[in-house]
Amino acid sequence: GPGLTEGGPEDPAPERAAEGGRPLVVVENVNKHFGELHVLKDINLTVNSGEVVVVIGPSGGGKSTLCRSINRLEPIDSGKILVDGKELPKEGKELAKLRADVGMVFQSFNLFAHKTILENVTLGPIKVRKQGRQESEKHAMELLERVGIADQAQKYPAQLSGGQQQRAAIARSLAMRPKVMLFDEPTSALDPEMVNEVLDVMTGLAREGMTMIVVTHEMGFARRAAQKVVFMADGQIVEENTPEEFFTNARTDRAKDFLSKIL
Ligand code: ADP
Ligand code: MG
Repeated sequence: GPGLTEGGPEDPAPERAAEGGRPLVVVENVNKHFGELHVLKDINLTVNSGEVVVVIGPSGGGKSTLCRSINRLEPIDSGKILVDGKELPKEGKELAKLRADVGMVFQSFNLFAHKTILENVTLGPIKVRKQGRQESEKHAMELLERVGIADQAQKYPAQLSGGQQQRAAIARSLAMRPKVMLFDEPTSALDPEMVNEVLDVMTGLAREGMTMIVVTHEMGFARRAAQKVVFMADGQIVEENTPEEFFTNARTDRAKDFLSKIL
């Protein structure tokens, strides 16, 4: 496998959240509309340092919009989003820097097609973090090693499998040394046999203490890596619970109905 995972899937998620990390992502009374559509309805969510939060819910519920708002890819209408105590500026160099604190991995791998895997991983650190090329390449190779594709460093994205491309995208995000990683359905565009190699990398990151917000319907991942599941539907956070409670004992009919469809 791609390394990173030390324990087996039966190991319980570490109790990091209970140890009380500082609030790293704070979403406060956030509202957003797309024209008439009220897509985020007074969202409140705190993710503490070292915590892994899985966001789950029906399509169209606002999960991607929430992720994109946290990263300021989408402006919000009202409320506040703080990353490590700071509100992201609206634009400019400061935004690029602060945005780099929030790594984002999408469903589609979003690698630069005309750059090698190594170049994809070093680009941000060189351009945004102003790191030297040598140092950037050294760090990039360590990260590619970590996600199990160091041998693909000189290839172009199209020469890699979907699972390898997604692992490259994770390495590219990690190269910016983000404080928090957002994953928006990172395995839903993958062929089934490649899902686990990506989830294994993510589980490893979780175990190493990375703060993560993960939109996914992968229950196995939620159970082994997450401290909290947030169920989102119709622009609202309907339910928040531990994975164990949520999957066996959902409180709301909305959540029960959703679970009956995916289980
Ligand atoms: P999810 O990720 O939970 O499936 P999204 O955040 O993608 O939900 O979408 C929430 C709602 O907002 C959907 O009804 C979607 O059609 C709508 N939406 C998303 N992006 C845009 C956009 N750029 N312009 C207009 N409507 C959008
Ligand atoms: Mg989505």
